[in-house]
Amino acid sequence: MMEGEFLCPVCGGLTEKIDEGRTTGTRCTRCEWSVVSTYTSPIDEDLTFYEMHIKKLNRPNENQIKTISSLGGGNFLQAKKQITEGNFSVRGKARMILSIKNKLNNANLLFEISPDFKW
Ligand SMILES: [Zn+2]
Repeated sequence: MMEGEFLCPVCGGLTEKIDEGRTTGTRCTRCEWSVVSTYTSPIDEDLTFYEMHIKKLNRPNENQIKTISSLGGGNFLQAKKQITEGNFSVRGKARMILSIKNKLNNANLLFEISPDFKW
């Protein structure tokens, strides 16, 4: 018996590790017994609803306008107006806010997130 292995509590058979993407655990090689757990990253367990506002920018460049436009800010002109007025905000959970945050950072757009965003 190798270190870390143990016998099935049901039939006494050898067990093996399960490692299938986000599912990990142990199962019996002889019967149906198994213990599994699904891996969830901590950010997905953060149930806080965040609110994100971009900061006003007088002369946004094309890339910045396209970024806001692609995030649901409407067409080019609407998105431009939203940036110059600092009038674009998004609400959502950590995972979504993080992905938008990365896009805004890439476009050098400044923003605020409340409550404090630790991701
Ligand atoms: Zn078994």
